[in-house]
Amino acid sequence: MNNKNILISGAGIAGTTLAFWLKKFGFNPTIIELYPTLREGGYAIDFMGAGYDVAEKMGIIPALEKADLDISKLSFVDKNNREKGNMNYRKIKQLLNNRAFTLLRSDLAKVIYNSIDQETEIIFGNSITKIEQDENNVMVTFQNGLTRQFDLLVGADGLHSNVRNLIFGSEAQFEKYYGYYTASCTIDNFPFKDRAFSMYNVPNKQVALYSFTEKKTFTFFIFSANEKLSYAYHDIEKQKQILKTEFMNIGWKCPEILSKIDSTKDFYFDAVSQIKMEKWSSNRVALVGDACDCPSLLSGKGSTLAMVGAYILAGELKQANGNYKIAFEQYQHIFKPFIDKKQKAAQSFAKSFVPKTNFGIWQRNFALKLMSLPFVSKLIFNQFKDKGLILKEYR
Ligand SMILES: Cc1cc2nc3c(=O)[nH]c(=O)nc-3n(C[C@H](O)[C@H](O)[C@H](O)COP(=O)(O)OP(=O)(O)OC[C@H]3O[C@@H](n4cnc5c(N)ncnc54)[C@H](O)[C@@H]3O)c2cc1C
Repeated sequence: MNNKNILISGAGIAGTTLAFWLKKFGFNPTIIELYPTLREGGYAIDFMGAGYDVAEKMGIIPALEKADLDISKLSFVDKNNREKGNMNYRKIKQLLNNRAFTLLRSDLAKVIYNSIDQETEIIFGNSITKIEQDENNVMVTFQNGLTRQFDLLVGADGLHSNVRNLIFGSEAQFEKYYGYYTASCTIDNFPFKDRAFSMYNVPNKQVALYSFTEKKTFTFFIFSANEKLSYAYHDIEKQKQILKTEFMNIGWKCPEILSKIDSTKDFYFDAVSQIKMEKWSSNRVALVGDACDCPSLLSGKGSTLAMVGAYILAGELKQANGNYKIAFEQYQHIFKPFIDKKQKAAQSFAKSFVPKTNFGIWQRNFALKLMSLPFVSKLIFNQFKDKGLILKEYR
């Protein structure tokens, strides 16, 4: 096997899945992660389709089963917390042959992380500042001034990828913003009905609550903003301020929720954007996950697709005996047409994602009633199946 020593930037969903498979296929991966520990936080994700298939191949289904939030239904409520429509999660799962979970992103991240071979080197609290590559290797300089040589480098460092910025240039060239911001965090000691997932809307804003233990309540926000907002990406205080301004006066439980977000440790805030690139690699450096193909929250598939991309990238490297030129080309050839379709589908959903008027909210609630008809729900949830992608067995 050639090019065995591979540095992965980012210990998120894509980076850890890639490390799992590279090790399994005989490579020697090292992960470098900006944060001092594995990152907590993030939304509750629907986990199904090709990502489920990859998880099954990794042998992590039992651990994911334990982490499943076991939501019975999602209720859409009015300001007095009265249900106006709902989605029956158990029925949806049945339509997907029970090959689906609802998981906190951080639980998925933990399960994948725990499945990585113990010998894999993971460097926390550091980042790459410089990348130089030639015919034989990649030389990287870290934030702490050290330099190290690897055979290959993979940027799995998310929507705002550092490796992408260093190799391909500014984010603005590749980012397509869809007019929304999203935030999530867990709050402590918030009295809310156990195992109930409730969502409240006013025009252009949506907030959801889910209590999964007596003490922990998960929150999830989306709001419209025609233009991108100005704030530093790492300025969490400013992001919390923006969220408070957007949601403080919209009623329901918002004032109580917002009074608790200052003490959260897992606050996440970002624009709803896609990343679209013509080429996912440059010489000895490749990208995976959100870094090159972020489908956005609108797709409902960011994490599962990140796992699938990582599996294909590792598998093609194995198949090509480490010949990165062949492997990187094949990885993109197999996966990009599928991603393009997923990005397009998500894009078409953007305008209606959060209702813009009270009438729009009423229409959405009415549509939910139609969805309870078996043939309608079958039609809709058929679209969640990942057709058109056959995962190879790499042995
Ligand atoms: C804490 C967290 C919460 C999230 N919550 C949401 C959410 O609520 N809604 C939503 O739509 N999406 C959310 N996402 C994004 C979602 O996880 C991804 O869309 C999806 O899982 C694809 O995974 P990924 O591995 O490509 O990227 P990510 O899961 O974003 O992982 C990228 C990893 O790279 C690390 N990283 C970043 N910069 C550097 C650097 N310079 N050097 C080294 N490592 C770096 C990050 O810390 C992170 O661990 C969240 C991501 C994170 C990290």
